[in-house]
Amino acid sequence: SGKKAKNSVPKTDIKFEDIGGQERAKGELTEALDFLIQKDVAAEYGIRPLKGILLTGPPGTGKTLMAKAAANYTNSAFVAASGSEFVEMYVGVGAQRIRDLFKDVKTMAEKNNQSSGIVFIDEIDVLGGKREGSHHREYDQTLNQLLTEMDGISTSEHPRILIMAATNRADMLDEALLRPGRFDRKIGVDLPDKKARLQILKIHTKNKPMSGDVNLEQVAAESYGFSGAQLESVTNEAAIYAFREKSKELLPKHFSFAIDKVMMGEKTDRETNE
Ligand code: ATP
Repeated sequence: SGKKAKNSVPKTDIKFEDIGGQERAKGELTEALDFLIQKDVAAEYGIRPLKGILLTGPPGTGKTLMAKAAANYTNSAFVAASGSEFVEMYVGVGAQRIRDLFKDVKTMAEKNNQSSGIVFIDEIDVLGGKREGSHHREYDQTLNQLLTEMDGISTSEHPRILIMAATNRADMLDEALLRPGRFDRKIGVDLPDKKARLQILKIHTKNKPMSGDVNLEQVAAESYGFSGAQLESVTNEAAIYAFREKSKELLPKHFSFAIDKVMMGEKTDRETNE
């Protein structure tokens, strides 16, 4: 299904230009990735090989997009998994899944003649949460396997593997993951400010029939606090309203409805979660 398809893309077509805002995060990330691209030069300086990059920040801010853009930027093979898929796995299955991810990315890179591969794990906190005392947790084997794979990465290895992970609860992570040589780069991915919201709205309206009357600056101002994912929803909802009304173009009122809809949707989500 969806997950399988996501795991089997040799390369993603998301580029950093497709990510609105996040200038600082993109800068930090590309700087780190340049070490991967110029790994021989980095080695000459005795720079410890970069193994893990942790993206932290609220949901829907583009962490997955960043990981995909990173794969594109470095011409790396890309495999992805989410911490939540490890939740109800039998003992040992999670560890096997981790081994497979690393094996798959290597195979994929070799097949496509790529010199590096990226393993992306979304919601890493689910499998890498703090281990407390003697409390036995079913994901311990999975986490241990991940640590083993990370420790096994060497500079001489070909293809070079980089692990990227995302979480919105960095404080929850097991210390073992944050030790030097593991996820030792943390990059914050924050909610977009007004300028970034405008950029994101522009990205997601590029392929839509927009009326000249729509003022995206105003839409950006009215969507204070929205994440990139919510802004994408706004553009999609606006298009749905236009379609429903058989309007040839997306009009200002469609955006007003869409903002309200997305805002209300959030509210009901939150209410039902509590
Ligand atoms: P989660 O933590 O919930 O997994 P995430 O931070 O990984 O979220 P993404 O999955 O990357 O967020 O974003 C979801 C969708 O929201 C993207 O596919 C894209 O359509 C839109 N989006 C989010 N952030 C941006 C952005 N900065 N620029 C453009 N689109 C964005």
